[in-house]
Amino acid sequence: MQYTSRILHSTIKNARKPKLMSQILCYPEAIPKEKSAVSSCKSLKLMLHRGLIKHVSPGIFSLMPLTLRSLKKLCDLIVMSMDKVNGQKVIFPTLIQDSLMKTSGRWEGNTNLFKLKDRHASDYCLGPTHEEIATSLMAKLRVTYKYLPLRLYQISTKFRDEMNPKLGLLRGREFLMKDMYTFDTNEENSQITYNAVCDAYSEFFQLLGISHIKVKGSSGDIGGKKSHEFQLPSVIGEDEIYHCPKCKEGMNSELLEKSEPVCSTCNIPLQKCAAIEVGHAFLLGTTYSDPFQAQYDTDKHVFRNLEMGCYGLGVSRILAASIEHLSTADNIRWPFLIAPFYISVIPPKKGSKEESIAPLADSIAESLSKIDWLTSNIVIDDRTHFTIGKRVQEASGIGIPYVIVVGKHAQGDTPKFEIIDTYSDQTHMLSLEDTLQFFMDRNSLLDSHCNITT
Ligand SMILES: [Zn+2]
Repeated sequence: MQYTSRILHSTIKNARKPKLMSQILCYPEAIPKEKSAVSSCKSLKLMLHRGLIKHVSPGIFSLMPLTLRSLKKLCDLIVMSMDKVNGQKVIFPTLIQDSLMKTSGRWEGNTNLFKLKDRHASDYCLGPTHEEIATSLMAKLRVTYKYLPLRLYQISTKFRDEMNPKLGLLRGREFLMKDMYTFDTNEENSQITYNAVCDAYSEFFQLLGISHIKVKGSSGDIGGKKSHEFQLPSVIGEDEIYHCPKCKEGMNSELLEKSEPVCSTCNIPLQKCAAIEVGHAFLLGTTYSDPFQAQYDTDKHVFRNLEMGCYGLGVSRILAASIEHLSTADNIRWPFLIAPFYISVIPPKKGSKEESIAPLADSIAESLSKIDWLTSNIVIDDRTHFTIGKRVQEASGIGIPYVIVVGKHAQGDTPKFEIIDTYSDQTHMLSLEDTLQFFMDRNSLLDSHCNITT
C-alpha cells in the first residue's frame, strides 16, 4: 500500500511540475507558396506555421502536442456542458455495418461515406454520425419510461469523404465531433430536451468568448422536424446566413424564400454574412425510431416510438474556427480557457549579464504552479540560447496569454518581473508577491480576456 501511494505521490508531483519548452515537439513549418487555399485561411496558415498541426493527406492532419493540450481543455468544457443537461457519455463503434445504414436510408447513393469490406466481403462504413447505432441500441433495449429522457453522447472521430477537403481542420475528411442522441416519451418532452441542449450550446460558446449566431437550419441528410445551426461569422465560412442585427434571429440561406428577407419580429431587413457552422441541433421526431422500431415501454406495457433529437458540435472545427475568429494575422489567439499553457516563464539568455538569476525563473514557476488553475499550465522556456525577445515572440505566436520575463529588473534585493499580457500587449512590472497576487484571481483575468459579444 505504502509503495503504491509513493508511486502515486511522485506521479502527481511530476505531472504538476512546470513543463520545459525545449521538450515539447513544436516544429514551425514554412508554408509552400503554391497552396493558395492555405493563404486565404488564417487558421490553417497559422496552425501549420506555428507547428500545431501537420498535413498528412488531403483533409487529414496530425495534431501536435500543444494542440492536444487545447483540445483536451475544449473537450473538458464540452463534457461540463453535457453534464449540465444530464448527458451520459458512451463510445459507439467507428465501423458501422451497411444493414444499419440501409435501414435509415443513408447508405444508397451516399457518396460522403467511406465504405469498406471486411474479410468476409461484408460491407461497412466509417461512422459519419451515429443515429443508426444509437437508435438500434434503443430498439434492442426497449427501456421503460422511467429511463426517459435519455441523453447519450460521445466525443469521437468521424469520417466524411468530402469532395473538396480544404481549410485544414475546418473541413477535413477525418475530424473530432461531439454527437448527442436524445430519447423522449413524446413530442413535447423532446422539445424540452431540444431547448435545454440548445441553451447549453449557447452557454458553451459564450464561455469560449466567441460570438456565435444561432440560426434556423436545413435538415440536410439527417432529416427530422426542425433544426438550428450555431454559426460563427467569418469571411472564409462556407455557409451563408441571414440574421437580424437586433434580435439575432436568423436562418441559413438554404431556407430563404424571398430575395430580401425581413425579420418578422423586428420588421427590419436581415443581414447576410458568411459563417462557419460549429454546432447543429436536430429535432428528429420519429424519423429514425420508425424504421428501427425503437420503442419504450409506457407504464401500461404498451410500446410507443421514441421521440428523438441529435446534437452535434464539431470539436476540431471549433478549435480551428476559434483561431480563425480570434487570431491576429501573425499570432494565434485561443479562447482564453483553452490556451495550451496560460503562462510562459522566460529565464535570461545564456551568457548574458543576468544569467546568474536564472534559478528565479524556476522558483517563480513552481510557486505559480501551486495556484490551482495554473497547475500543469505553466511552461518554462528554457531554450536560453534564444534571446528573451525571440522567446516572448514565440509565446505570443502560439497564443500563450501571459509571459513572465525574468530579466534585468529581476536582479538585486527587490526583484521585479515583467508580466506581459500577450493578447492585449499590456505590461506590468511586479514583485514576486504581487505577481502571485496577480494570477491568484482567475475570474478577473478571465473577464479581461473573454470579449463576449453575443
Ligand atoms: Zn429581429
